[in-house]
Amino acid sequence: MTEAERQQVIVLGRLLAAERRDGCADRVTTDGLVAYLNQWSAAAGSAVRLPAVQRALGCLIGYDGMTLVERDQALAEAIEVLRSLFRTAPTTPVETTVPPSPAVNPAPNAGHVPVTKRNTSARQSRKRAANVDQRPLAELNLDAPLEQIAGIDRRLVGGFRRLGVRTIRDLLYHFPRRYDDVRNRRSISELQVGAEETVIGEVTDVRTIGAGPKLRVRVEVSDETGSIEAIFFNQRWIAQQIRVGQTIALSGKVTTFGGKRQFSSPRWERYTPDPEALLHTGRLVPIHPLTQGLHENQVRRFIKQVVDTMAPQVEDHLPPVRLQHARLLPLGEALAQIHFPTDHTSLAAARRRLGFDEFLFIQIGVLQRKRLWQQEISYAFTIDMQVHAELQRLLPFQLTAAQQRAIEEIFSDLRRPSPMARLLQGDVGSGKTVVAAAALLQAVANGFQGALMAPTEILAEQHAKNLKQLLSRVRVPRKTTSATASSAYQQADWRSLLDPEEAAQLAEIVSILGMSPEEDMGGHGVRVALLTGSLGTRERRRVLEGIARGEIDLVAGTHALITETVQFAQLGLVVVDEQHRFGVEQRLRLKNKGYNPHMLVMTATPIPRTLTMTIYGDLDVSVLNERPPGRQEIRTKRVGRAERAKVYRHIRKQVAGGRQVYVICPLVEESEKLDLPSAEEMYERLQHEVFPDLRVALLHGKLSAREKDDVMRAFRDHQYDILVATAVIEVGIDVPNATTIVIEGAERFGLAQLHQFRGRVGRGHHQSYCILISDSDNQQSKERLAALEQTTDGFKLAEVDLQLRGPGEFFGTRQSGTPDLKMAQQGDTRLLAEARALADAILADDPELKRPEHDLLRRKVNDFWAAATQSG
Ligand code: ADP
Ligand code: MG
Repeated sequence: MTEAERQQVIVLGRLLAAERRDGCADRVTTDGLVAYLNQWSAAAGSAVRLPAVQRALGCLIGYDGMTLVERDQALAEAIEVLRSLFRTAPTTPVETTVPPSPAVNPAPNAGHVPVTKRNTSARQSRKRAANVDQRPLAELNLDAPLEQIAGIDRRLVGGFRRLGVRTIRDLLYHFPRRYDDVRNRRSISELQVGAEETVIGEVTDVRTIGAGPKLRVRVEVSDETGSIEAIFFNQRWIAQQIRVGQTIALSGKVTTFGGKRQFSSPRWERYTPDPEALLHTGRLVPIHPLTQGLHENQVRRFIKQVVDTMAPQVEDHLPPVRLQHARLLPLGEALAQIHFPTDHTSLAAARRRLGFDEFLFIQIGVLQRKRLWQQEISYAFTIDMQVHAELQRLLPFQLTAAQQRAIEEIFSDLRRPSPMARLLQGDVGSGKTVVAAAALLQAVANGFQGALMAPTEILAEQHAKNLKQLLSRVRVPRKTTSATASSAYQQADWRSLLDPEEAAQLAEIVSILGMSPEEDMGGHGVRVALLTGSLGTRERRRVLEGIARGEIDLVAGTHALITETVQFAQLGLVVVDEQHRFGVEQRLRLKNKGYNPHMLVMTATPIPRTLTMTIYGDLDVSVLNERPPGRQEIRTKRVGRAERAKVYRHIRKQVAGGRQVYVICPLVEESEKLDLPSAEEMYERLQHEVFPDLRVALLHGKLSAREKDDVMRAFRDHQYDILVATAVIEVGIDVPNATTIVIEGAERFGLAQLHQFRGRVGRGHHQSYCILISDSDNQQSKERLAALEQTTDGFKLAEVDLQLRGPGEFFGTRQSGTPDLKMAQQGDTRLLAEARALADAILADDPELKRPEHDLLRRKVNDFWAAATQSG
C-alpha cells in the first residue's frame, strides 16, 4: 500500500466510523453514504483497487436500503476489513493476493479442504483462532468447536458465538429464518416482466454511466436466446467485480425501462455448471440469522460446506422402523434440507422431522418427570369432610360446580401416598383462592403445614388476609404428627417464651393479619402467617420460629419462602399462585422444603390445551371454566385517541361515584418517536392538566418491589382515585372498588396480557369497564382488540391469540424453564399428539431409556432439557 493509498483508506475508514457512531442514520454526508462512496471511489485513485477496499465497499452495497441493524453490521464488517490493511507491514506481497471474492462458490465436494480458501502467510494464520489444534472439517466430530475447523476465519467464529453457535452441531441447528424463492430460471427471451426470475448468461458488456448520485453500472448479460441489462445504482465497485467474459447468475425482479426489459439491482453470483452449487441465486435461498461480523453470503457459503460434510455423518436417535412408521425424514437429511431445501415439499418434510424431535424430547422429559414424581412417597391425607363442610358453611357464597369438581380432584390426589402435582387453571376471577384454601385446610386438618407462594408482596398479603378471614374460624381438630417440633411448645403459653418487646411485636403482626392471639393459639382456628422480604428482622425471626416449631399452620409469602432460613416443621402442601412468574426451579425449591409435599400450581393465564401439554405436561390439570354467578360482565370498548376527552368524562363520573380507575401505558422506549405517552408523561398530564382536583398515583417498572407494593397498597386503601401504571400492574391484585381500566396503546400488548389487565376490574359489585385506546390500522391488531370486545372468555382469547401471533407473543415473555421451540409450531396439535404417542410407546418399553438403542435418544433428551432450564 502506497502512502497515498494509505491516506485515502484512512479518510474512508474515519468516515465509516463516524457514520457508525452516529447510529447508522446515513446523515454524516450530505447526499448519503452511497453517494459519498461513489465520489470517494472516483477520487481515491489506486486505493480503490486494493482487494480489502473492494471487499469493504462490497459490504456496503445497498446501504441506503438496509435496516439499521444491517447497516451496523455492514459498517462493522467494512471497518474491520479496512483495519486489516494496517495490521501488517504496508508492503507485504500478500496484500496483492486477491482474497476470495464473496461471489466465488466453494469447489464441489470441498469438504476436505479448509473451509475458507486462504493462503498460508503469517498474516493470514494470525487471523485464525489462536492456539487451537485445527483439522479439516471431515475429521472433526459434531461437538467440535468451530475454531477447530482448519482455516476458519476468526471473525466468523466470533460472530457465531454472539449468536450462541459454538460447535458444529450448533451450526447445523442454526436454522434459516426464511427462504427467498428465486428458482424460476429462464432463458433470456422467456423472461416475464414483473416476475422474480433467475437467468444465467455470459457478461458481454460492463459500463459505468453518469457520476455522483446518478452513477450506475450497466451490465449486459447474454445467452443463446438474447441479452438483457442489469442496472446497479450507485455501486461503482460492481464494475470491478463483474468482468466481461464471466458467466454469472442473476436473480431478481424483471422490470422495463424505455421499452426494454432489465434487472434492477439483482442478486448475483459467479456461475459454475453444477446446479447444486448455486447458493445465492436460482434456488430457495436460505436467509440465516446474522449478527455483527457475519455477512450473508459468507455465512451461507460456510454453512453449505459444513452441512455438505457433516449432515451425512449425523447419527439418528430414532431407528429406521420408527421413522418409517411416523413418516419422518432421517435426521441428517432433514438437517441438510432445512438449510438448503431442494423444494417446498422437502422443506416441509424437514420442518416436520425437526419439529417432531422437539415435541418428542419435551414429551419424554415431562413423562419421565411425572413418573419419577409419582414414584415418590408422600403423605396420604385423610380427607376430613366435616371440616370441609364447615368451610363451606362459612363461605359467603356457594361453590361453583367447577370449583367443586376441582376440589374433588385435588382431594383424591391428596388421599394417595404419592405426591400431588396438579395445575389449577382458571381465568381471572374464577375463584381459585378458595379452592386452594380448601386444600390447605385439609393439610392442617391432617396435622401438616401448608405454604402459599405468590409473586409479589401485596399478593402474598392479600392471600394471607383471605386465608385468615376464611380459615381462622374453621375449627380444626389438632392432630399431632411425630415431626411437629414439640407439643410442649404448643401447650405452653407462648408469650412467656418471648421478651416483652418481641411479644408486643408478634401481637402486632397477629393484629395486622386480623387474628386474635387467644383464638389463634387456642388450638382451634387455623393459624396463618405472612412471610415477605420486607418484614423487620424481629418479626421475621418470630415467623420463622413459628414455622419451624409448627405453631404456624399456614404461611403465605413471596420468594422469601424459598430462602434457606425457612424450615418447616412438617410441610405437607405447597400452593404456587400465578405460576407463570415462577420457574420450574423455584417450584422445586419450595417443594424441597418438605419431604415430598403435595403441590398445587395455580395459573390465571389461560393456556390452550396443546400448550398445556408441552409446558405442564408433568402436571395433572384441573380447570375452573365457570365464573362465579352474579358477576357483572365487564363492558369492553375500543376507542380512538381522538376520543380521549370522552374517556376522561367517564373517569370523572366513576370517581365522583366513589370508584377508582386504572390507566395503563405501554412501555415506551425513549428512542421511539411514536406518539405514545409514557406512564410518567401520562401521570403528569392527568394529575396536572386533566384531573388536578383528583388523587393520581404513578406505578412504573423503575420503582423497587417495595415502592411498588407501597403504591399498590395506598391505592387499595383508596388513598388515590386514579392509578397510572405500566405493565407491572398485571398480576392478580384485587381492588374491588376499581371499576374502570383504560389501556393506552392497547395494540402494543398481547391478548393474554390485555385480558389480565381487564381482570383487574369487575371484582366487586359495580358495573365495570375496560377501555382500549388504539389508533392502529394493523389488521391483526384490529382483530385482537375486536376479539377482546366480543368475549371475556380467557380461553377463547388464548386460542385466538395463538392463531394470530404464535405462542411467544401470547406469553409476552418466554416461560421460564420452558423449552424453546425453534421448529415445532405450538399450534400443531397433530404433530404433538404423534410425538406424545411415540414417547409413550418408547417409555412403555424402556422407562429410563436404558437400552443401548436408546442411548443417543437419552442423551438428546437430557441435553435438550439442560439447555432449556439453563436459558430459562
Ligand atoms: P382468582 O381465580 O382470580 O384468583 P379469586 O380467588 O381472587 O379469583 O376470586 C375472585 C373473587 O370471587 C373473590 O372475591 C372471591 O371471594 C369470589 N368468589 C370465589 N368463588 C366464588 C363463588 N363460588 N361465588 C361467588 N363469589 C366467589
Ligand atoms: Mg388469584
